Amino acid sequence: MVIEEAVNGRDDMLIDGQMGDQVLPSGFNPNFLKLYYGIPLLKLRFQSKLFPYGDIFRWMSYGNDGKHPACDKSYFGRRELSFTLENDIYLRFLSFNSVSELEKGIREKCPFKIDIGPVYSVDPSKRHAYAQSGENVFKPVERELIFDIDITDYDDVRYCCSGADVCLDCWPLMTAAIKVINTALRDDFGFRHILWVYSGRRGVHCWVCDGKARRLTNEQRAAIADYFRVYKGSENSKKKVSLTGHALHPFLVRSYTEVLKDLFEQTLLSSQQIFSTEDKCEKVLEMIPDESVAAELRGRWQKRSSCSKDDINAVRWEHLKHTLQSGRHKGQGLRRCVEEIVFSFSYPRLDMEVSKHMNHLLKAPFCVHPKTGKYTVHLSRVCVPIDPVHCHEFDPTTVPTLSQLLQELNSGGMGQEGDNDWDRTSLGESVRFFRSSFLEPLLKSCKVELLIFEEMESAYNSKLQQSKNSMTW
Ligand SMILES: [Zn+2]
Repeated sequence: MVIEEAVNGRDDMLIDGQMGDQVLPSGFNPNFLKLYYGIPLLKLRFQSKLFPYGDIFRWMSYGNDGKHPACDKSYFGRRELSFTLENDIYLRFLSFNSVSELEKGIREKCPFKIDIGPVYSVDPSKRHAYAQSGENVFKPVERELIFDIDITDYDDVRYCCSGADVCLDCWPLMTAAIKVINTALRDDFGFRHILWVYSGRRGVHCWVCDGKARRLTNEQRAAIADYFRVYKGSENSKKKVSLTGHALHPFLVRSYTEVLKDLFEQTLLSSQQIFSTEDKCEKVLEMIPDESVAAELRGRWQKRSSCSKDDINAVRWEHLKHTLQSGRHKGQGLRRCVEEIVFSFSYPRLDMEVSKHMNHLLKAPFCVHPKTGKYTVHLSRVCVPIDPVHCHEFDPTTVPTLSQLLQELNSGGMGQEGDNDWDRTSLGESVRFFRSSFLEPLLKSCKVELLIFEEMESAYNSKLQQSKNSMTW
């Protein structure tokens, strides 16, 4: 009689479509995914559909789904999608020609994870046919410029959590990464159509969707990734950040003064207790290239302190800054040491390989990926968009889970098929934000691009005609 029984596998029962007030189990259940994708459960007469198929399709079509004469009807069908099914079965090079094909494909397979790849020169599902014809034409031709930032890459500088765990003490590292990268993409590179997405558990993804970003070559992508690189040396080198050169690059100056300095001093110093123990102090002292300066600070910190536990981090940071910036020490590498320490603890750590190559796959927004451990299924949250302007307000611990969404549907009463079911859940806010702040402005600019293309083409054709006419004379 109730959704709870249906999702727990008892879907052979006669279900009258009325859901009770029972609380859904909070863990993961594959039937939750079916309801999320709108796959009918046996004998459950209502049908829900939360996954925004139409929005994903309109985004990935970039205006090529309309009636405009200049649009490329094959565009969406040349995009690679990949599905990870239950039991880690991995299907690559899937393609769909329309939103209904996309929806049918997802409903048939009920993927635990959906990844988005590049747009290829030809339909990726037919790549073997092209290979056999001897024409080596199967290659990626377009791809959003993407960034993947994973909080596990900060494990050496976050003391609150490790691995896939995230809490509100370390999440500000992700907020800072969004601010730093987003500003640079807009102000330094001139990109406008940028989508930030919570990766579902432990990080953020960025999709830069401007036409000029999608058409970047691998070399150009690598150059942009390099622009953001400040980490040098090996995994084990003590000094991870090296800010060299006569003057600091304006991008780094801006990142430091507008984001990182405040993040370090106002938040991380106390939330991560950066100077609270001898080991933690040593970690910072190791970043000072002059041993006599490090020894001076070490000596000072070893003396009995009258500071409270809360103050010790701020007090020791002031000691360090004062010692390094007093001008008494002029050793090699000391000039930017304070900034280097701040960068080491707070500067965005990008997975460079993801950004450099067109054919890298990235998890689709609005996906829900239940990561299964050996004995447990981790709580998985929906990959919702993050507003970069208000990213400091984003709280990953309150992003809806599948069971929460279904609970909301349950208590809100089921609608008719075709209704926007997401609108009656907390997913509604995310879909509306996706549309108004990202999708609509993007499609508007795609339309302008198509018009310009059409005009250029007709101007070219009439010129061609003119020259043909003059030749016949
Ligand atoms: Zn944490």
